[in-house]
Amino acid sequence: MNNQDLLTIAEKFGSPVYVYDAEKIISQYKRLTGAFSKVKNLRIHYAVKALSNISILSLFKNLGAGLDTVSIQEVKLGLKAGVDPSQIIYTPNGVSLEEIEKVAEMGVQINIDNLSILEQFGTKHPQVPVCIRINPHVMAGGNTNISVGHIDSKFGISIHQIPHVLRIVENTGMNINGIHMHTGSDILDIEVFLYASEILFDTARHFKELEFIDFGSGFKVPYKEGDIETNIEELGEKLTKKFNSFCKEYGRDLTLAFEPGKFLVSEAGKFLVKVNVIKQTTSTVFAQVDSGFNHLIRPMFYGSRHEIHNISNPEGKERFYSVVGYICETDTFAGNRRITEIKEGDILAFDNAGAYCFSMSSNFNSRFRPPEVLWYQGEAYLIRERETFEDITRGQLQVELNLPV
Ligand SMILES: *Cc1c(COP(=O)(O)O)cnc(C)c1O
Repeated sequence: MNNQDLLTIAEKFGSPVYVYDAEKIISQYKRLTGAFSKVKNLRIHYAVKALSNISILSLFKNLGAGLDTVSIQEVKLGLKAGVDPSQIIYTPNGVSLEEIEKVAEMGVQINIDNLSILEQFGTKHPQVPVCIRINPHVMAGGNTNISVGHIDSKFGISIHQIPHVLRIVENTGMNINGIHMHTGSDILDIEVFLYASEILFDTARHFKELEFIDFGSGFKVPYKEGDIETNIEELGEKLTKKFNSFCKEYGRDLTLAFEPGKFLVSEAGKFLVKVNVIKQTTSTVFAQVDSGFNHLIRPMFYGSRHEIHNISNPEGKERFYSVVGYICETDTFAGNRRITEIKEGDILAFDNAGAYCFSMSSNFNSRFRPPEVLWYQGEAYLIRERETFEDITRGQLQVELNLPV
């Protein structure tokens, strides 16, 4: 996907528009599976919430991936995309027992992350195999420090509560078929991750009927030049050794599962916007684009840095800009950023726009959400239409109150 391809897409589908490079998604998937090729049974469950368009889900299905879901709606999207329920894992947090029961009925693997639901679900459905999500209380601190943290995290069952888990399992006669962790923090330090995996193995030793161990995600991708990224190959080599020797000890070939979102789709995405206005102020030059945090909230929400390129003038002289949106609210995408000279009407491309970008978009300011385009072998496929005014008004009921006059 070069600049000319992107300009053609912006022209054809209008701006703003999200574009995803299928070949990049495929190569990331193959890089991950390649790194773990010496694991006999490997499962990659793509985390739907990162980018949930059904064409993306269908792409992952065709690659042989399963799905990681966090809501019944995500499960339904996966089924609609044609993914077999046995290839879907459901890892909710703070969700009602009723929703979990409905998802279990669909034949989806349930992953439970609190004792209350574990006990209630196990009592009512002891025959349904369940995975448990543990919180290993491990996170990277500094370079090679392993610090105990995440005590306050709302996710997972604390490893200190394993005795209580075991009591529930024994009392209900339920079947635990998987152990899971997803700390949510970036795996930059492989040693820390391997340390956490030991805790997972220790937990696994308590259960005799396991089929899989799920190591969650946390793979970091580069957002700008010089960023460190997870060394997947090194992780693959080291974790494979540990995993295979654990399986030998356990006496069964378990499945090793991962559930990456960002790693698989972040870099594949570009977000294209058009510059409406160049506004000089006393302190900066604003480039105001036809978007805002209604379409891409990561810079404002997480302080994430997305590289921005002026693809209409890629060879121009570099100048400093504050790139902001058109929302009536502070919506700074980038402050004081060096970008090649921008004119009104130019198309800017945001990098790393695949994960948590469209999927976190909204209709704030009653603006339409952008279309999504999938790019494959030189061909642009529209996979979501731009919203229309009907989408904004759908479901709204105009009630006119009888006001006293
Ligand atoms: C969000 C999420 C993921 C994906 O995390 P990434 O950082 O996008 O790889 C995986 N597992 C669970 C349970 C999640 O909630």
